[in-house]
Amino acid sequence: MTPGSHLLVVGGGVAGASVAYFAARAGARVTVIDAGRHAASHVPSALVNPVRGQSGQVDPRAREGLRLTWALVDALAEAGVGVPHGRTGVVRPVPDDRTQQKFARNLPPGLPHRWLPAGDRPAALAPGWTHALLLPEGGWLDGAAFTAGLLAVSGAGVVRERARTWDAHTVTLENGERLGGDAVVWCGGAVGAGWAGEAGVQRAGTLLTLDRSPSLQPLSFGAYLAPAAAGGVLGATFEAPTSGWPGQGEQTPTLPLPSLGWLLGKGEALTDLSGVRVTGRWSGRRLSGLVAGRQPDGSWRLSGLGSKGFLLGPLLARHVAGDVLAARGM
Ligand SMILES: Cc1cc2nc3c(=O)[nH]c(=O)nc-3n(C[C@H](O)[C@H](O)[C@H](O)COP(=O)(O)OP(=O)(O)OC[C@H]3O[C@@H](n4cnc5c(N)ncnc54)[C@H](O)[C@@H]3O)c2cc1C
Repeated sequence: MTPGSHLLVVGGGVAGASVAYFAARAGARVTVIDAGRHAASHVPSALVNPVRGQSGQVDPRAREGLRLTWALVDALAEAGVGVPHGRTGVVRPVPDDRTQQKFARNLPPGLPHRWLPAGDRPAALAPGWTHALLLPEGGWLDGAAFTAGLLAVSGAGVVRERARTWDAHTVTLENGERLGGDAVVWCGGAVGAGWAGEAGVQRAGTLLTLDRSPSLQPLSFGAYLAPAAAGGVLGATFEAPTSGWPGQGEQTPTLPLPSLGWLLGKGEALTDLSGVRVTGRWSGRRLSGLVAGRQPDGSWRLSGLGSKGFLLGPLLARHVAGDVLAARGM
């Protein structure tokens, strides 16, 4: 691609917005086609957390990914776009010695961390946790603001339509209009995979919005408690995986009652929730099965970010944007 080449990006979540941002910075003209529906990236408060799950797994790209995400938050601020966030560190309480040993085994040498003695733990953390790991480079951010900020600062043109089909150089919209470009990158997330009739693994999830956050530092084991732009969140459930998006791709995921009970139980284990008011809920779907690169039809794709969209999405998008531009001679 030569400077001024035209890149079409389908999907304007964190994946598509990040691809647009990096491609535009490298000199490409970018058009994002985004239906603006069911974006998982609009999660009100996402953790930027390098140590995952209940065994403390760390993706080899985690540190580079989180540093890039924070660098983008800074770049957006410099461009006049404020993204609500907290670079406060993330606290991962651990219930027993066995789990602590698993976490310790998985921690790579270069990842800053500290096991907190009882006296140094956040006051809001419930008693009874055997260990607590502080990841000082982690934090939280407002997913919708971050995504919208990247898109705005990229300067990309945005077409608010659904793409029906696409190939290496064209995107056909639902209304039949055809857009042409030098390359196409598909970043449609879970809903887009559902619309395309793909059978990829998806997991619905819901978080509760709260009138305040009991802790300034996110707390995470099983569920997470974190501040948000307005109040806080307690998230998120993991519903049973499904193959594809149910129905015609328009239903908002439900919150089954047992999941609500599970979530509140996990929240109570992290902190005393008495006096905290639930103000609403937000639901989305995560798509598993990372794909980042060129497809057999010549188009490009970044999808399947699972629960790590804000940890790895911008980093992988930078790689994909770079590869697209390099493949086209830029
Ligand atoms: C409950 C929950 C909690 C989460 N918590 C965290 C967290 O704490 N930390 C973290 O890092 N990640 C978290 N995630 C995961 C994160 O939200 C996702 O990994 C990320 O948002 C995926 O981004 P994406 O750009 O691939 O897809 P999406 O954000 O879903 O964006 C896809 C966009 O493409 C559009 N689109 C799709 N198909 C088409 C089409 N054919 N034509 C036009 N437009 C189309 C959609 O309308 C949508 O706007 C969470 C997810 C959920 C559901």
